[in-house]
Amino acid sequence: MQKRMLSGMQPTGILHLGNLEGALRNWVRLQEEYDSYFCIVDWHSLTTLAETPELIKKQTLDVAIDWLAAGLNPEKCTVFIQSHVPQHAELHLLLSMITPVPWLERVPTYKEKKENLNIESASYGLLGYPVLQAADIMIYKADVVPVGKDQLPHLELTREITRRFNHLYGEVFPECEALLTEAAVVPGTDGRKMSKSYDNAIYIQDSAEETAKKIKTMFTDPLKLRMGDPGRPEVCPVFALHEIYSPKDQVAWIDEHCRAGDLGCVQCKKMLTENLNEKLRPLRERRQMYADDPAQIEKILEEGAAKAREVAEETMREVRKAMMLP
Ligand code: SF4
Repeated sequence: MQKRMLSGMQPTGILHLGNLEGALRNWVRLQEEYDSYFCIVDWHSLTTLAETPELIKKQTLDVAIDWLAAGLNPEKCTVFIQSHVPQHAELHLLLSMITPVPWLERVPTYKEKKENLNIESASYGLLGYPVLQAADIMIYKADVVPVGKDQLPHLELTREITRRFNHLYGEVFPECEALLTEAAVVPGTDGRKMSKSYDNAIYIQDSAEETAKKIKTMFTDPLKLRMGDPGRPEVCPVFALHEIYSPKDQVAWIDEHCRAGDLGCVQCKKMLTENLNEKLRPLRERRQMYADDPAQIEKILEEGAAKAREVAEETMREVRKAMMLP
């Protein structure tokens, strides 16, 4: 039997190349190997966007479209929205009763978020975020969860909560394992990490023309001012994108000719534009197809949620029995 895997993403709106290379490519591969559940965690977004539910709703749909465009295949995996499976909330409530507050206060992302968001009094939900995340994972009895190194403390907390539950009420849950993923770091057009909030992102849904425009204005090696100046590909974000999207022999050629100074940035960027647009073409076509057919998206999400609810309810039956609840 295939091992089960769960992963999720907050509905942050349309997705960019950083999301694509950082998570989605990996997911598309993993859906072949695991019984995979991919959850758009809209309740998690309420921890910071509680005042704009309409934004969460819109962004949830955008994320779903981008997931499918990237290649998640509903025939091979289960794609659904967290709030369509109310069992997550029930398990979250029960787990919150056995999770000591200091476990949550020491989670690094809680401290960061509290400071970054400048929230005077962070909500109860923000503190409890990792408990909801534990519920998301445990309710499917996931064996593995793909994570980057930065998310390891969250996953460790899920494992601690699992052990505590099993110790108190009997062995109901498996302890999930981290599936450590090496993701390419994708620079934005200004050389910083690609991020929606830096306004430096190239989006999956951008047209070929928009992409060309963005690449045209991209930062390069600041010491290479004109053709003839030798460049340093290792500090150039254009080159970093070439390494992801261009054929290996072309990357080697660019490396050599940039250093020699006989390749100009304009030509180099044109080559990147062509390669990137070519790589994104099938994704964009799929994206358009789904965006033009909202009924199909709705159907996929509803079928995904129905399947997820079935598994989640089965787990909850065991949980209620173990906790002597009706
Ligand atoms: S030639 Fe290409 S790799 Fe070299 S600095 Fe210009 S854009 Fe970057």
